[in-house]
Amino acid sequence: MALPETMQAIQIKQFNAPYAVPQVAVPKPKSNQLSIRIKAAGFCHTDLMALNNEFNSPLPYIDSHEGAGVVEQVGSDVQGFVKGDHVGCINFDSSCGECPDCSAGRVIYCDRPQMKGLTIDGAWAEYMVADARTTVKIPESVDLVTAAPLMCAGLSVYGGIKKAGVPPGGSIGIIGIGGLGHIGTQLAKAMGYKVAAVDIKQTSLDLVNSRRLKPDISLLATEDPDGQGAQCYAGKVSWARCRCSRHRKQPAFDFAAAITRKHGTVVLLGQPDKGITMSFYNMIFRDLKLVGSLIGDTSDAEEPMNLVNDHKVEIKIKIWKLDQAEEMRQEYLSGKSEGKNVIVL
Ligand SMILES: [Zn+2]
Ligand SMILES: [Zn+2]
Repeated sequence: MALPETMQAIQIKQFNAPYAVPQVAVPKPKSNQLSIRIKAAGFCHTDLMALNNEFNSPLPYIDSHEGAGVVEQVGSDVQGFVKGDHVGCINFDSSCGECPDCSAGRVIYCDRPQMKGLTIDGAWAEYMVADARTTVKIPESVDLVTAAPLMCAGLSVYGGIKKAGVPPGGSIGIIGIGGLGHIGTQLAKAMGYKVAAVDIKQTSLDLVNSRRLKPDISLLATEDPDGQGAQCYAGKVSWARCRCSRHRKQPAFDFAAAITRKHGTVVLLGQPDKGITMSFYNMIFRDLKLVGSLIGDTSDAEEPMNLVNDHKVEIKIKIWKLDQAEEMRQEYLSGKSEGKNVIVL
């Protein structure tokens, strides 16, 4: 079936402007691409950063890098996909193929990467084209609305847990139980770790404690808004290692370092406005290691999908329509949002 000429999409024509849904041209797949009829596409904090022009995105662009849908057309050079396949697209789309990291096979660290919803068109549209090499098949048992947030949030938090390098049976602390964090506590439990959940909102802790794969301990950090007293937890909590989620404030990072036991690893996933600092005391006298974690690649996307499927990880999803995107953004900005927001088409 031929693709239609036009479609609805949340196209960003101007930075710092409300979301709108104009009619735009339907993209045609190149030889290495798939055309995907989008069924669900998630909202990520990075979308707000892009809207604030923090990534120098070329205008106009279609937002969202957490898309899932059904293959409609297959590019002439693509192998392994057929029309009708259920697929998800990770946020990283394609690489230059020439830079040192591309040559070394670390394509997500490419010097000139193309990212959906940031440097090229993303998934808040009826159709999207995507490089087949960064597209993953979704098993029939995982519904597309659940699969969409796994393409960035699930993959990112899974990558962060892996990067902590904690041996089986060890302990993981997750600071910030938002869209990523509430998936992370469940994935970490499914992976066999002891898990501590930390947030400043009791409702966020209540959410993860209501899940079958609930954390072993949850810590409300509100008595400690500046992170100054976080050391009090250090003596009590023997968690081996810790990862820091997307909190944009230094106290969350200080808290993560404070509750990480000696010789542990703090993994940074968030992108705080003012950066982060690590004290020499934590690095020298407590031998903490600080590592960052970028999104994984398609090979990393399959395991979290299997964990979600096999262990019945329950992602809290609020469903919106395309024309409700601005309402969704405002709710997120108000701080009332919990779990993941997903636009369903
Ligand atoms: Zn994202
Ligand atoms: Zn490259």
